[in-house]
Amino acid sequence: MIIELRECQRCGHKWFPRKVGVPNNCANKHCGSSAWDKPRPKSAEKKKTYGRIFPELHELNVGQSCNLYFCQKDIGDGDARPIRAVNYERKKYGKKFNVIPSIQFIKVIRTA
Ligand SMILES: [Zn+2]
Repeated sequence: MIIELRECQRCGHKWFPRKVGVPNNCANKHCGSSAWDKPRPKSAEKKKTYGRIFPELHELNVGQSCNLYFCQKDIGDGDARPIRAVNYERKKYGKKFNVIPSIQFIKVIRTA
């Protein structure tokens, strides 16, 4: 009987299953993912990297400003990405911005 070392693609937990065969769930009780053997979908990763969607925002120096355009097809449904990107930069890097809303874009001024 061969028991293979398994590694969860979601949380990185490694374990030796008690039974032979492919486990149904990750053995980490905080994870327990049934998709433990599949890497996270790319779209989920994309959502975490707002900074890369608007590189001009990430590279903004104090005193500079830039315009972040809403995705054309999402106007009306409320494209939240420019605002979310600003909030991400505030939270993650402690930067401060003034945001001036407009119809097609938001003007962002970095203040600190
Ligand atoms: Zn896991």
